[in-house]
Amino acid sequence: MTASTAAAALAALMDDAPAWLPPVNHWEIARDGDRWIVSGQLDTDGDTLSEGDAYRLLGPVVEQFGQQLDDDGGLIRARFAHFGVPCDVWFLRPVLRWVVPEQCATCPTKLGAPDVRFVRLGEGDREAPVICVPCRDRMQAHWVALHRSPLVAARQEVRELLLAETGEERPAWRQSFTELDGAEHPDAISPVCTNDDHEPNDPTVYDCCPEPVVEVDSHVLGAYLVELLNADAHVDAEGGEPA
Ligand SMILES: [Zn+2]
Ligand SMILES: [Zn+2]
Repeated sequence: MTASTAAAALAALMDDAPAWLPPVNHWEIARDGDRWIVSGQLDTDGDTLSEGDAYRLLGPVVEQFGQQLDDDGGLIRARFAHFGVPCDVWFLRPVLRWVVPEQCATCPTKLGAPDVRFVRLGEGDREAPVICVPCRDRMQAHWVALHRSPLVAARQEVRELLLAETGEERPAWRQSFTELDGAEHPDAISPVCTNDDHEPNDPTVYDCCPEPVVEVDSHVLGAYLVELLNADAHVDAEGGEPA
């Protein structure tokens, strides 16, 4: 089959369009492997044509030839033959005229299949991450849970109280001794002293040390509180978690 045979078939199609042929925006003769085919883009009526319309318009073509529509999730294609030349009319799903990645940005779900719903994060941005709807729902549920959690509410209140006590900078915390040789275990927690004369490894509280010094009977609880306070300050510094 030569290009001129395909051209002749196309001319015949255009001169005397069969009743089952839907409106086509433009035709082309294309090389498909070692043969020539005639290929037309379904008239999308100024991009207003829906997927349902496309199925309705392409249906008679495949019925005429006892075939089925090809649908790979992106392109819907009706194949037929005219004067022995393979022809098709195709329709590109509107949503896929955007760049849709093969896979959800946050899980392994493939986005191409027609029954997979997805959303684009970021309006009008072709490069924006695209996630499947189940991921969107999970993120939303997570966010709500996070922001309504008692821990988040408590952090927010305590942080403000603490800043009133310690100033703008959030100090690092340590376990400390309120008296020299006074106890077997640390009996307090307090901000790390930054005074040059204070040995970094000396856990005792002196006059040089910043307030507040909080006495904690249980040194285990003291260790826990120090961990919490330092982890919390770290989260703030990273800006990792929304306040
Ligand atoms: Zn996903
Ligand atoms: Zn000190």
